[in-house]
Order: sequence, then C-alpha cells, then structure tokens
Amino acid sequence: MSEVLNFTPIDEIEKIRDELRSGFASGKLRDIAYRKYQLVRLMYLVKDNSVRFEEALKKDLGRPVLESRMLEIHPTIGEAKTQWKNVETWAKPSKPSFNINFFAMKPITRKEPKGTVLVISPFNYPVWLSLGPVAGAIAAGCTVLLKPSELTPHTSALMTELISKYLDHDVVRVVNGAVPETTKLLDLQWDHILYTGGGRVGRIVATAAAKYLTPTTLELGGKSPVVIDPKTDVRLAARRILWGKTVNAGQTCVAPDYILVPRDFQDKFVDALKEVYEEFYPDAAKRSAVSDSYSRLITPQATARIAGLLERTQGKVVFGGEVDKDTKFIAPTAVKDVGPGDSLMSEEIFGPVLPIVPVDSIDDAIKFINEREHPLAIYVFSQDDQVKTKVFDRTQSGAVVANETVLHPGAEGLPFGGVGPSGYGMHTGQYSFDMFTHFRASLDSPGWIDAILKFRYPPYNDAKVKATLNIAPSLPKRPLGPPTKGGSKWWGKWFFLALAVAVAGLTRAKRLN
Ligand code: NAD
Repeated sequence: MSEVLNFTPIDEIEKIRDELRSGFASGKLRDIAYRKYQLVRLMYLVKDNSVRFEEALKKDLGRPVLESRMLEIHPTIGEAKTQWKNVETWAKPSKPSFNINFFAMKPITRKEPKGTVLVISPFNYPVWLSLGPVAGAIAAGCTVLLKPSELTPHTSALMTELISKYLDHDVVRVVNGAVPETTKLLDLQWDHILYTGGGRVGRIVATAAAKYLTPTTLELGGKSPVVIDPKTDVRLAARRILWGKTVNAGQTCVAPDYILVPRDFQDKFVDALKEVYEEFYPDAAKRSAVSDSYSRLITPQATARIAGLLERTQGKVVFGGEVDKDTKFIAPTAVKDVGPGDSLMSEEIFGPVLPIVPVDSIDDAIKFINEREHPLAIYVFSQDDQVKTKVFDRTQSGAVVANETVLHPGAEGLPFGGVGPSGYGMHTGQYSFDMFTHFRASLDSPGWIDAILKFRYPPYNDAKVKATLNIAPSLPKRPLGPPTKGGSKWWGKWFFLALAVAVAGLTRAKRLN
C-alpha cells in the first residue's frame, strides 16, 4: 500500500465486478447517445484536469510537461474523440457482399458489446494506456474495470478520483493494487481482458484467462531494433533515435532498444549521436541530471537493473553512463561495439541506454533481427527505397517504420499491437472498438426460401442430392501451371489492343481511299 494510493480491499473486488455486470445488464449503454455522453465526459475529465495530470506524472516519473502533453494528455483526449466521432458508424450493422444463396435471408453482422471487460495497464504511459482503452470499451458499449499501475501512485489516485467524479459508476470502476489485487481480478470471469505490460505477467494473465476461455489482448514489449543504412541523413537519424530513446527516460514500449549499423559506418553515426546529445542537453555542468527535459526511472529497482546491465557490458561507453540510484537517474547513454551476447542484449532495456551493434551489412542486420523474437517495432533509417522495402518485406514485427521513431502508436487509423512474443491483438481507434465488440452473425429467413431449399430436408433421394448442384460455388478458371514471375503486364494487353485498333483503322482508311 502506498501513502497516496488506497488499494482496494480484496473482498470488495468481486462486488465491484458484479455491479459492473448489473450496469451492463441495465442496457443503458445500448443507447449510442449515452456512450457519446460518457466519452465527452471522459475528454473533459482529462482536459479540465490536465495540469493536475502533468503534476502527478512529474511526481511519478519526473516527466517534463512537454512529454506529458505530447505523448499522454493530447493522445488520450484524441483517442476518446476518435471513438466519440466514429461510434455511430462503427456500431452500425454491416451487410456482407452479395451472395445469391443467402441474400434473401438478410445476412447482417451486428456489432454487439462483449459485456464487462477488464483493462490492466502499465506504469509507463499510465493515462493514455488506461483511459484510451476505457474510451474504446465505452464506445463499444461495454462496462469496464480499470486496474492502473501501482507504480504510478499519484497518477493512479488522480484517475480513481476523477473517474468516480466524471463517469457513470455503473459503467467504469477502478480497482487499485498490486499482485494480490490483480490476482483476485484474474480469478474472476470477464468478457474480455486487455493487458498491457511485460511478457512475464502477460503469460500469467493469458493462463488465468484460459480458465474461462476469456478473449484476451496482450500488448507486450520486447527489443525493438533500429537498422541504420549509410545512405541516410545521419544527423536526422541521430536526432530522432536519441529522442525516441530518451523520451520518458527510455521507458517506452516502442523505444528504439538497440542499433544495428554497418561496421564501417559506426563511428560516423556515433559522432552524430554525440553532437545531438550535446545539443539536447547543452549545459555540460548540469547535463541531464537536473535538466528540465528529462524524466526519471520509475523505481530504484528499475534503476539498479539497468545500472547492472551497464556495469556488465563489454561495449565501450561513448557518452553518459552516470547513475544515481537515490534519484532514480541514469544519464542518456550510448555504448558502441556491443556484441550479440552482451548484457545489454539479454533483455528489453526499458531505459535510456542505447547499445550499438556493428554488423557487416544490411542483409546481416536483417538476419540478426530474424534470429530473435519478433519485436513490437522495427525502425530503419535510409534514403534508399530498396533498403526500406527490404527491411519492411523480410522481417516481422508489430510495426515497421522508416525514418522515424516512437510516434506510430499515435497515428490515427493504424493498429497498435505486437506479433508473437510482443503480444497479440491490437488496439486504438476502430481496433479498440472492434476488440470490445462481438461481431454477431444474424439471418432472418423468409418462409418462401423453402421453395428453393426444400431439398435439404430428409428423407434424402437422388433428385434432392442432384439439387445440391444448384448451390455449388463456381470455381475460377483451372490454372495451366504456377504463376510466372512478373505475370502479364496490364499495359501490355492494352498496348496490343490499341495496336490492333490502329491497324484495323489504317486498313479501312486505305480501302476507302
Ligand atoms: P508489468 O507487467 O510489471 O505490470 C503491468 C501490470 O501488471 C500492472 O498493473 C501490475 O500491477 C500488474 N502485475 C504485475 N505483476 C503481476 C502479477 N504477478 N500478477 C498479476 N498482475 C501483475 O509491466 P510494467 O513494468 O508496468 O510495464 C513495462 C512493460 O510493459 C515493458 O515490457 C513494456 O514494453 C510493456 N509495455 C507494452 C506496451 C504495448 O502497448 N505493447 C505499452 C507499454 C508498456
């Protein structure tokens, strides 16, 4: 139990879940206008209290205001607004494409809320990763229980206070706590669980969910690599990579974890990185330790873990390296000549330390990535489209991004999620709405259909068996062999057609002459 955050008594947790179930059963969220009302209230919950959120985030993470606004407050309001703006369209029943056998039965996909859902969120973007999914759940018409991180007590206490003030008690509730409280939550049945956090706990969540066959979305982490092509604007690359690594002190699930750079380009990249480091934190005497532009690590334990990785590295520290465990400070640090078996390559760093791993070539970098677990993001810095395409096409990850870092989860309309060990399922925008929605198939078949489909009823006979041919699907033309590389070019056909028309026209003109 923390001084600022009251943990929910364990014996109250089931009652809270049951009240949310009653809230769902009341049917008030069937009314889209009511969902929209709650979503606007959610937007104002954040807007009216943005300064309080900024202060809470400062206390919990030492987070500079700019980072809180850009990566937390605005995206949370933006996500609620996207849900609010689109909910009518997304909630509309949809018709499948025309099918002669079924169209008369009025096939429709109904978009129905799954029920009462559980959202477990992490410490690193505690507002966005809590209230963003809550917005998606409300838009979908679900009641939702939020379990925020105990590691951000000021922010979690503020969200608890404001949710009870701004949102319907029957629709959204909060349970605060650590492992025992979350374990109790996971003992209960839910209609969907969205978990964001590390893979170790992700496995605990998935195992608990399996007991009830609860659909689950796991938003996990991993080591997201950056591939540097020498054909790149090296200053721009250094700036965007160092920003992605130092924002929130590297505690971003899609932060660039390590760099893969062709060996003979490593020093040029390191020089650019050093210049950018001095540009970002210009006061050499103070450096980032007292900079207003730099967050802190979340706990002394997290600081000690990363400091330990740094102490054991066989690489060469090129800048940074200062650690102050008492103030949870680790300076932005770059380490070059890092080998594949180095301590810095043993786990997701989740802090402001950037290992640089020299490789022989871009192909070697791709091989390096493919020999490891699929990450949440892969970045490539290049001005050569062929290099970008190669990295995009020959690797697998939650997302793949050229010439940028960290911003893609905020891009409206794109899914946010992992693949393999970086998680399953996806969210934000319509993907969140769909995650909390049951796509319910429906038909309404008229009696006259039996004039056509009566043959299905026993007793079967030869005539009835023959009648099944009337509903057999037609096939595309039988192929003569496997496709030839490149196939026929569409413009080739048009060229020959145009040529034939021209020849025919000329022949006719000649004849008329
Ligand atoms: P975490 O797994 O330690 O904690 C997340 C949540 O799980 C918290 O609410 C916590 O109370 C709960 N929890 C912790 N131990 C538990 C247990 N034994 N049983 C049940 N619940 C438990 O994660 P974290 O340290 O808060 O976040 C860091 C990790 O999250 C990183 O790996 C990061 O990459 C990942 N992450 C992923 C995304 C994404 O969208 N994919 C976003 C942010 C963070």
